[in-house]
Amino acid sequence: MNRYVTYLIMGPPGSGKGTQGKALGSIPRFFHCACGDVFRALDTRTPLGQKFIEYSSRGELVPDDLTVELWHQSIDGQVVGTRFKPDIDALVLDGIPRNLNQAILMRDLIEVKQVFHLSCADRGELVRRLRKRALKDNRLDDASETVIQQRLKTYEDETQPVLKYFDGIVTSIDAMQPPIKVMHDIVEAIWSKRDGSLSFSA
Ligand code: ADP
Repeated sequence: MNRYVTYLIMGPPGSGKGTQGKALGSIPRFFHCACGDVFRALDTRTPLGQKFIEYSSRGELVPDDLTVELWHQSIDGQVVGTRFKPDIDALVLDGIPRNLNQAILMRDLIEVKQVFHLSCADRGELVRRLRKRALKDNRLDDASETVIQQRLKTYEDETQPVLKYFDGIVTSIDAMQPPIKVMHDIVEAIWSKRDGSLSFSA
């Protein structure tokens, strides 16, 4: 099986991965998949739905094998439903892989072209954004200060090493810039480093 041509958007909770992923996914020939959205779409009465509630409410990662399997099933469903056409579309992933083991488990499934690291040194600003989101989007995991702090710690301990793993294809972008400038930087990097494996015509 051919691996999916993929762009990864990485960054701490609150850095704007979802916003940027969604915007990029609205451009023809890009398909966006946010792992958190795949989890939130689960029926919470199922065993996997319960696992998601259990881990996310503590600010922890759901176990890797379950996560990668769920993500794989979801992407397969998008291919079958022809929303994602891997022969002509590039995949934009946010929220996965989220630790080294997931990156290794996904090695045979995705061909990572570039990684966009939405960086933000200001923890206070991230916390402010998450609090705002808790009110707007009814996100349980954004509502408690302890959970927010745990999610930031999980990011530093588990997700940051993934950036090292992709060393050489990582572009760091200042996540404190206005969303349109962050988008501009991402699109510019994609365009300037494009190669023959991508089709940009709608
Ligand atoms: P954020 O990027 O703001 O942390 P997400 O919507 O990406 O939020 O994820 C919410 C929660 O879903 C995470 O805290 C975690 O519990 C679970 N989750 C999402 N993606 C993964 C993943 N790749 N591996 C394990 N757990 C995940």
